[in-house]
Amino acid sequence: MGATRVVVLGAGIIGAACARELALAGLAVTVVERGAPAAATTAHGEGNVLVSDKGPGPELDLALLSRRLWPGVLDAVAAHLPEAAAAVEWEPKGGIVVATTAGGARELERFAAAQREAGVTAEPLDAAALAAAEPHLTRDFALAVHYPGDAQVQPAGTATALLADALRAGAVLRAGCEVLGADTAGGRITAVRTSTGTIGADAVVNAAGPWSGETARRLGAPVDVRPRRGEVLVTAPMPPTVFHKVYDADYVGAVGSGAGDLQASAVVESTRAGTILLGSSRRRVGFDERIRPGVLSVIAGKALRLFPSLAGATVMRAYGGFRPYVPDHLPVIGPDPRLDGLWHATGHEGAGIGLSAGTARLLADLMLGRDPAMDPAPFRADRPAVLSEGESR
Ligand SMILES: Cc1cc2nc3c(=O)[nH]c(=O)nc-3n(C[C@H](O)[C@H](O)[C@H](O)COP(=O)(O)OP(=O)(O)OC[C@H]3O[C@@H](n4cnc5c(N)ncnc54)[C@H](O)[C@@H]3O)c2cc1C
Repeated sequence: MGATRVVVLGAGIIGAACARELALAGLAVTVVERGAPAAATTAHGEGNVLVSDKGPGPELDLALLSRRLWPGVLDAVAAHLPEAAAAVEWEPKGGIVVATTAGGARELERFAAAQREAGVTAEPLDAAALAAAEPHLTRDFALAVHYPGDAQVQPAGTATALLADALRAGAVLRAGCEVLGADTAGGRITAVRTSTGTIGADAVVNAAGPWSGETARRLGAPVDVRPRRGEVLVTAPMPPTVFHKVYDADYVGAVGSGAGDLQASAVVESTRAGTILLGSSRRRVGFDERIRPGVLSVIAGKALRLFPSLAGATVMRAYGGFRPYVPDHLPVIGPDPRLDGLWHATGHEGAGIGLSAGTARLLADLMLGRDPAMDPAPFRADRPAVLSEGESR
């Protein structure tokens, strides 16, 4: 008997990471991507690999697992593919969360204390330490907490490197190939129908990001994954101004909110190219791609509150993308109990870049019957939030 044939649906960072883990484990992997690899949500995010924004619970556990895995994954890629690995731009620079109001400070203090209980390093910074760490940051703050565990990557470069390593390990990529449906026999997937032909398959991994709801429906087992829009402003390259991931304490509330109207908070970081990314917003507007100047000006205003000196910066461009959102804010990782052979690795919302390493390891553990690296139960596909009808997208 040959190796298990797995179709990974989607070549964003989640599909790339899963394809790599499964190919390295000896499975016969075909990655099917309707566009180009890493060109959808993965190319439209920032590159935060954060533990700081997650409260105790399964998402933080997945973030901590991912954070432990990243250095080893990247070293392994670099050992075979040094050029691809260079595009990852891994920077374990740490994060600083800043509360600018007394209420925000109380909330941040409570949040950081709970995180410390869960194993996160979160160190309060006094005014002198903050000024040394971020000389251009406002001095008008109520509390700042340093998270040395936060890191950064270049998202598209990272997805491309993971995919390249998957291909090196034997995976096959079919780009420009859209998944249309699945053939089944006796309640099991036997093949995937695509725009360029049928691919025999024992298993399919639904890693279609914000389109995972639609792809799951096509495959015969719908899940409730919706798009949640986000926009980012990019400055022209600047002299070194921002040295950590810096964000305002409101960010955690915006992430956790399920509201459809605009949620915005300042998330500021520099890139190796010298640009500064100013994020980010959250709105539920379906797949409406229009950039809204009003949203950009709210983002800019919040960023200036943290870094007043950016008032003189030139904005070079703005972009937006669609986070894959599940109403209970947890990803979906594991088998679909309604259709044998269907697996999901999706719904990572605003954290899929950072969480991809742990997601891929957990998915591979489950598929291969290994002891899972963490408890997979909270990410089950048959929980109510995933199977609910949901509202219109
Ligand atoms: C503004 C913004 C900022 C963000 N910042 C961060 C951050 O700092 N850190 C972080 O961790 N995350 C961040 N995110 C979230 C992160 O970008 C996503 O969670 C992640 O990219 C999701 O990856 P994915 O592989 O699931 O989806 P995608 O990258 O969208 O990949 C899915 C792929 O499936 C393909 N596909 C869809 N339908 C089909 C079909 N029928 N057939 C074949 N292929 C199909 C698509 O073309 C696509 O390439 C941000 C997102 C946004 C929008």
